[in-house]
Amino acid sequence: MDLLGLTIKNVSEKLKDGAFSCKELIKECLSIIKINDKKINAFLTLNEDGALKKADEFDNLIKNDKEIFKKKPLLGIPMGVKDLYTTRGIITTAGSKIIKDYNPPFNATVIRRLIDAGVIIVGKTNEDAWGHGSSGENTDYEPTKNPYDLSRVPGGSSSGSGAAVSYGACLVGTGTDTGSSVRLPAGYCNLVGLKPTYGRVSRYGVIAMASSFDSIGHMTKTVYDNAKVLEVTAGVDPYDGTTVPIRVDKYTKVLGQNIKGLKIGLPKEYFVEGLDNKINISIRESLKVFEKLGATIEEITLPHTDFAMAAYYILVPSEVSSNLSRYDGVRYGGPRELFGAEAKRRIMLGSYTLSSGYYDAYYLKAAKVRTLIKQDFENAFKKVDVLIAPTSPTLPFKIGEKVNNPLQMYLSDIFLCPTNLAGIPGLNVPSGFADGLPVGMQIIGSQFSEELLYKVAYLFEQETQHYKIRPQFKNG
Ligand code: GLN
Repeated sequence: MDLLGLTIKNVSEKLKDGAFSCKELIKECLSIIKINDKKINAFLTLNEDGALKKADEFDNLIKNDKEIFKKKPLLGIPMGVKDLYTTRGIITTAGSKIIKDYNPPFNATVIRRLIDAGVIIVGKTNEDAWGHGSSGENTDYEPTKNPYDLSRVPGGSSSGSGAAVSYGACLVGTGTDTGSSVRLPAGYCNLVGLKPTYGRVSRYGVIAMASSFDSIGHMTKTVYDNAKVLEVTAGVDPYDGTTVPIRVDKYTKVLGQNIKGLKIGLPKEYFVEGLDNKINISIRESLKVFEKLGATIEEITLPHTDFAMAAYYILVPSEVSSNLSRYDGVRYGGPRELFGAEAKRRIMLGSYTLSSGYYDAYYLKAAKVRTLIKQDFENAFKKVDVLIAPTSPTLPFKIGEKVNNPLQMYLSDIFLCPTNLAGIPGLNVPSGFADGLPVGMQIIGSQFSEELLYKVAYLFEQETQHYKIRPQFKNG
């Protein structure tokens, strides 16, 4: 069984045909993890016994119930879960030492839905503590490495989930995207990663970073796989009042439909100095594929882009300082000294911007800028159907390269954070390789346009097949 080359779609077919059993599949995942994870460090906790037990249970169901694959659309699919998601009975640390022994008594809504659909959790994955970061290096544990080059970062903050899917440890990895954290690791690990519309997927049971930004998404090798998982996770949840009661589309149904006449906008503010030329070239090559598929391309403007990072780094720390205040060392969590440098920085910044006398000057002003950025996108979508941009201005960078320069680290997300300010969806798809490293491309749409994003990305993926190039463990 070549898990590195297999997708959810392939594995479902093979389980149905009896080519292998759930037990064989899960054993294979666990053995891949045991061999490789010492090098990669994608997992914080393994769910070995739980996963094997589930696999036995499902093998019995497959024998006795012909309809089981209809009832459980993700039956037997191995999943890595970012450690920000509460998982009943499986230690959940948020990548932080503050809650290193937390054993949750309940599952996040998304986890409950995925388990009901048949996924098997193989383990909890490493991340920047509390989701603060772009490289995985802000974890309170050992950082995760990029499977394409072990001296480089896999992208953060959902670093472990990205690396795990990429090196064949599982077939889907959950992430959270507050400013970048699904799309950036997807871009750096040659995966498909979705940041859905804010309110499309329930946040209940996902440890809060910045509540008005947090978007619950996931990474897979292919567009089909990604769409299949969103069909399960999306939809209104009584436990999260910000979820929206809009119908969940059957996203996989539209894959393969043509995109003739699609209007693509290129935001001119995203193709500027600071963008690595190799990435620029890769995206331009990819645009030719879209033209071949019948799309037209025009330049558009998002005039307030320059203010996006500043607004993000006022609003997000404000919400972070409020959300982290519950870990007071008395009711919840260990002593507050255990907070890492980045969490402390955000708590201080956020407490400052929310304090009386400064609130109007910083928080309120940034909130107004947020509205302007949202309007930029709304205006753009009056002219075009989707936007295309690079996911990151640089290729996956070296471990250690940006750790002492938080500002440089923040800038990794410059093309990603604006969509979180606006609450709209963005999908990373592999655009190819430069210097042997993955290049990510982002397709951005208006609110609740996930179906369109998948449709557009699918045809591109069929033409290019970049996802088939899996890591060879260079430098390993
Ligand atoms: N890198 C961004 C930050 O540190 C985004 C992180 C995220 O999406 N969780 O705020």
